[in-house]
Amino acid sequence: MILKTIGFILRAIKFRESDLILTVLSRDYGKISLLAKAARRTESKFGAALDLLTLSELVFYDAENLKLLKEASIVEDYRALKSEYDRLTLALQTAHLLNQLIEEHHPDRAVFEFVQDFLSEVGSLKNLDVGAVAVKLKLMRALGIAPRMSGCARCARLRLDRTPCRLRRHDERQAKDEVWFSPQSGGVVCEACHQAGDTRLSLRLAQNLKMILGLGWEKLDRLALTEDEITLAQGVLDEFLGFHLRALYMPSK
Ligand SMILES: [Zn+2]
Repeated sequence: MILKTIGFILRAIKFRESDLILTVLSRDYGKISLLAKAARRTESKFGAALDLLTLSELVFYDAENLKLLKEASIVEDYRALKSEYDRLTLALQTAHLLNQLIEEHHPDRAVFEFVQDFLSEVGSLKNLDVGAVAVKLKLMRALGIAPRMSGCARCARLRLDRTPCRLRRHDERQAKDEVWFSPQSGGVVCEACHQAGDTRLSLRLAQNLKMILGLGWEKLDRLALTEDEITLAQGVLDEFLGFHLRALYMPSK
């Protein structure tokens, strides 16, 4: 059977003398592997359509154990992001993360659109550190596993969109300016609900993470996070991803 779709080239592994095995995030078939014969020859008919992070139209022969690429042509090559080392690095890290997080043969339009938006916007993003945090949050949202950031994930009493004066401790003297982040509970938790092992976050950082989830890529440059906040945010999001990654790959009941 001959099939046609468009897809992002996430990974390419050398195979035999001159072939490539590609990992592609396709619009219609989800993540698939394709064998591209003679793709490493200089006169390869596929040209630059198999370069990493390129969106290409792909025509392939679909057999039971093998998907053989027949034709490939570039739809969008995202040149703006490929000309700068730091942008390219972030994009390649994102491709790697995607490859880890998504299973084969599960087409998901939300994930496909996340990649399309990200690759279109990352070329003009000014703050790549905030961009790297946004990648994780927005990808988790596309996958349906975003941390709950709007209020306490356990009791819902604390809400992050209220003014800090409403978030007072019981003694009412000291404004509460911190929350906790708990992968087990599914996001931000309040002082009363936090457990051992949860990570303490400033209310400011928690509010910024909530905003990143809601803002489009083009508006992210409005946010300013310190280096320490970026490091802390990356840490808790990696922990959250790790927690869900284990859950994703557990056999279904
Ligand atoms: Zn709570």
